[in-house]
Amino acid sequence: MNSVNIPDKLRLLNSNKEVAEELIDFIKEQGFSKIALITTKTPNYLITNELEIALYKYLDANVATSLLKTFQVITPSVAYVNQLQLNDFDLVVGIGGGKVIDTAKYLAHINNIPCISIPTVISNDGICSPISVLKEKQNKYISLGATMPVALLVPLHIVEKSGEESLISGIGDLLSNLSAIEDWKLANREEDEYIDDYAILISENAALSVFTQIKNYILQNKPKEQLLKENLKMIIESIALSGIAMEVAGTSRPASGAEHLISHSIDELFGGLKSHGIQVAFGMYITTFIRSELGYISKNTFEELKIVLRYLGLPITLSSLGITKEQLIKVLAYAPQMRPDRYTILNKIKSEERYVSEMLDKLFENKPMLHIS
Ligand SMILES: [Zn+2]
Repeated sequence: MNSVNIPDKLRLLNSNKEVAEELIDFIKEQGFSKIALITTKTPNYLITNELEIALYKYLDANVATSLLKTFQVITPSVAYVNQLQLNDFDLVVGIGGGKVIDTAKYLAHINNIPCISIPTVISNDGICSPISVLKEKQNKYISLGATMPVALLVPLHIVEKSGEESLISGIGDLLSNLSAIEDWKLANREEDEYIDDYAILISENAALSVFTQIKNYILQNKPKEQLLKENLKMIIESIALSGIAMEVAGTSRPASGAEHLISHSIDELFGGLKSHGIQVAFGMYITTFIRSELGYISKNTFEELKIVLRYLGLPITLSSLGITKEQLIKVLAYAPQMRPDRYTILNKIKSEERYVSEMLDKLFENKPMLHIS
C-alpha cells in the first residue's frame, strides 16, 4: 500500500499578517530551520516581503541570510528547478500562482523535503496536490510526481482580488472530477483497472458539493457573482480535497480523465486556447455528451451540466472556446494518444471522422431542455 500524505494544516486567512503568523507557528512547531521561498516578482511581492521579514525575525536576523533564500521563478520548467542549489535546506515555501506552486512542489520533491503552499490564485486543483505541471524540452508541459504540501495557507484577501476568471477556471477543474470518475469507473468495469473507493468518495463529494450549490443558486435566480462571493471557502476547500483524492489514489485518475486528455490535445495541437480549468470544463461538456449519447448516463445529467456551465460562463460553444469544428475533430482524434494507457470514454467512440463530425453537429446544435432538478 502507498503511504498517503495528507496536509497537517488548511487555513484560510485574511491578511498578510495572519499568513505570516500561521507560517511562523507551523515552522516553529515542525522545527524547520533553513527555508527556500519560491515566488514571482508581481503581484506577490507585498505578501512575500512581509513573510520574509517575519521569517528573518524568527530565524535570528544575524544568521538569517544563510537560513533563508528567496528564488524568483523565471520559467516554470524542469531545467529551472534542476539548476537551483538547495544544499541542506529543510523546507520549500511556494507563494504565488499555479506555476509557482508547481515549481515549489517539484523542487521539494527532487530535494526530498517538505513544502508549504501559499496560493495567491485558485485557478486549478494543483494548489494542494502531488502533481506538478512544468515545461520540459521543446517547451512542452508535462505532469510530474511532486511533493504533497504539508500545509496549505490561503490568503483570501489576495485570492479575492485575483479575478473572477481564474476562480471560474478553478471551479471548471474541480467539476471535471465528475467526468474523470466516470472514466475511472469505466476502466474498472471494462479493463479491470484498480479503483480506489476512498479517492472516488473524496473527489466526487468535493465536486458535487460545489455543483449542488451552483444548482441551488440557479434555482434561486441568484447571480454568479453572489455564488463566488458567498462560497469562496467551500470552493477552495473542495479544490484542496481534490488534490487529496489524487494523493490517496496515488494517481491523477480521480481528477483527470478524457476531459483532461482533450485539454492536453488542444494544448499540443493549438498551443492552448484558454486556461487549463476552462479547457477541461469544455472537455467535460463533450465527454458528458458522449456518455449520454452512448447511454452511460441520463440525458438530463448532460442537460444539467450544460445549464451549470452556461451559468458559470464556461464555454459550451465552439466559438466561445475559439476552435473550429474541423480543429475539434483533430483534437478528439489525437486526445487518446496523450496518454494511451488511460482508458476513457473516448475509447468507446468510433474514430471515423464522419461519426465524430455528426456527433459534434448534434452536440453544438443540441436544444436545451432548460430545467434543473
Ligand atoms: Zn486539471
